Amino acid sequence: MYDIAIIGAGPAGLTAAVYAGRAGKSVLLFEGGAFGGQVTFSPKIENVPGFVSVSGAELADKLVEQALAHGADIEAETVEALEKTDTGFALTTAGGERYESRAVIIAAGVKHRLLGLENEERLIGNGISFCAVCDGAFYEGGTVAVIGGGNSALQEAVLLSSLCKKVIVVQNLSVLTGEKTLQDEILAKSNVELLTNTVVKELEGEDSLAAITVENTQTGERQRIALDGMFTAIGLEPQNGIYEAFAELEGGYISAGEDCATKTPGLFAAGDCRTKSVRQIATAAADGAVAALAACAYVDKCKS
Ligand SMILES: Cc1cc2nc3c(=O)[nH]c(=O)nc-3n(C[C@H](O)[C@H](O)[C@H](O)COP(=O)(O)OP(=O)(O)OC[C@H]3O[C@@H](n4cnc5c(N)ncnc54)[C@H](O)[C@@H]3O)c2cc1C
Repeated sequence: MYDIAIIGAGPAGLTAAVYAGRAGKSVLLFEGGAFGGQVTFSPKIENVPGFVSVSGAELADKLVEQALAHGADIEAETVEALEKTDTGFALTTAGGERYESRAVIIAAGVKHRLLGLENEERLIGNGISFCAVCDGAFYEGGTVAVIGGGNSALQEAVLLSSLCKKVIVVQNLSVLTGEKTLQDEILAKSNVELLTNTVVKELEGEDSLAAITVENTQTGERQRIALDGMFTAIGLEPQNGIYEAFAELEGGYISAGEDCATKTPGLFAAGDCRTKSVRQIATAAADGAVAALAACAYVDKCKS
């Protein structure tokens, strides 16, 4: 039996592995996708403490190296089920293996909803972004599109309008659905163009996004728009359904505060998967540290 199992090897899970390993605990880390999590989509990151600029791939490699250096065992497996046992928790993977641990840290992150278009996955991080705070500066002086019309999309558009020459907001509905104040702010900007009743039909670009083709859903009219970048803000998809028996969910996110504790003793949630307002690498790593130290204290209590 492991002391601590960690689900997800993004910045939260990998930081948790470092802290728990350094505290002398046995750690098993599961990753069902790319080691490093969402950062692997980002070619250039400029707001991680200690790095003026680092690629997502390099950061992911360093995080994994650090977790391994502190003794974490790693399984490239998706956890499909979590159960409570007399001594802690049991985790079953997609491959059918069953592992036990005294405490569990869920660091499962979040997935950005995609448009479902050809070339989309290939162009993520190469002209397609989900985060103006993270990537807006790379498009300074350029033309970008923001896809979506809710609060997130309008916040992205406000930020981008202060950096870019032109921002085109593409909304599939006839109206924007974000807060009135944000709508007013956007509509007052001279460098923002709003296309309602409009959907993106095609993405063009070899090494990076070069243009999109949009279609008016009322008239069927299509237009090709040359772009430097596109920010998709049509929602996030937390992957937390399997934890529902042991952790409350709010809008799909695991309900946990700054202490990362869930309603079940020994079960913690860290990073983008929990309820929080800022989802960034620094805040995910901070959660990883907090959750790991809390899990260590829980394990010590169980053993004493
Ligand atoms: C394109 C892009 C650019 C970004 N740029 C920046 C930036 O410049 N600066 C910044 O601070 N932030 C940036 N972010 C946001 C940042 O990457 C996230 O806030 C951060 O990665 C969250 O870390 P996390 O560990 O909580 O989750 P994630 O990074 O999402 O990692 C969670 C991991 O858990 C795995 N997982 C989920 N469920 C299971 C399961 N059941 N079994 C096994 N594994 C599972 C997933 O495969 C994933 O690898 C960017 C995000 C994107 C998408």
